[in-house]
Amino acid sequence: MITPQSYKWFFEPTTNVEGHMHAIKRTVVEAQTKFQHMEIIETPAYGKVLILDGRIQSSQAEDFIYHEALVHPGMLASERAPESGLVIGGGEGATLREILRYPTIKRAVMVDIDGEVVELCKKYLPEMHQGAFDDPRSETRHEDARGYLERTSERFDFITIDLVEPLEEGPACLLFTREFYTLVRDRLTPGGAMTLQAGMTKLGELDFFTSIHRTLREVFPVVAPYQTFISCFGTPWGFITATKKVDPRKQDAAAIDRLIAERMKSPLGYWDGQTHQHAFNVPKHIRAATEAQTRVVTDAHPLIVT
Ligand code: SAM
Repeated sequence: MITPQSYKWFFEPTTNVEGHMHAIKRTVVEAQTKFQHMEIIETPAYGKVLILDGRIQSSQAEDFIYHEALVHPGMLASERAPESGLVIGGGEGATLREILRYPTIKRAVMVDIDGEVVELCKKYLPEMHQGAFDDPRSETRHEDARGYLERTSERFDFITIDLVEPLEEGPACLLFTREFYTLVRDRLTPGGAMTLQAGMTKLGELDFFTSIHRTLREVFPVVAPYQTFISCFGTPWGFITATKKVDPRKQDAAAIDRLIAERMKSPLGYWDGQTHQHAFNVPKHIRAATEAQTRVVTDAHPLIVT
């Protein structure tokens, strides 16, 4: 008989006083790269799970929920059917994969600083990238995404920021600031849209999400927060779509379903008109916290997660 004692457990502290545990079936790979500690474990509930510096990044079972929520609200808020996309971070390649599902995409670039993480994901998480790195439309670069954005003059219809949290000494600290979001805005086409994962939206832990939201409002005319429950994280998760023109909160369920049919030709597993309405209708206490936040994150005063 299988009991909790049959397993070793992985413990992820969600906050300093709370956490979530996952039984481990096996450790697929573990490595210390130049930038971070990486593990892929297999769990009974979620299949393979990618963990960086002790934080769960994504799981096989909820891959479609997390990555569809991250990508499609922005792809559907791009004024024209998007022809180009940029992934900032992106490790496992699932974000890249979702962008490549649009037949209008001619070019998709992924810039992840950690080539070792990407190589190990290519080898051990084929279920997630599903060949996205080999698609002739895709290009993968291994460098700091901020440096890349500063140097390139290319414009993209869609940019998504799929980064690890800004841990102290981690590689992503200066990619959550007003200066960085200004660079992102300037690399978007005039009708372009961006999305990002913006941390948890659980009660008592809204400061990260609301500070990012406040910071983006300094930079973009349209900033639309939304959330989705990610069960393997053990908490609802916040995302934000920011655009120069289209407001996703004004796209009704029928419009989203029509856009998915027109732009993608095939339905998604998680995102549709109803999911869109649900996600963008954030609850009252989160709206209140978002309105009340005054902190603008800057290079001089970056946001650091402890
Ligand atoms: N899905 C995950 C989540 O939000 O929970 C995050 C996806 S992905 C694994 C995050 C990636 O960001 C990592 O592979 C990491 O190497 C990359 N990254 C961190 N700092 C970066 C930087 N400065 N430039 C480019 N990529 C960076």
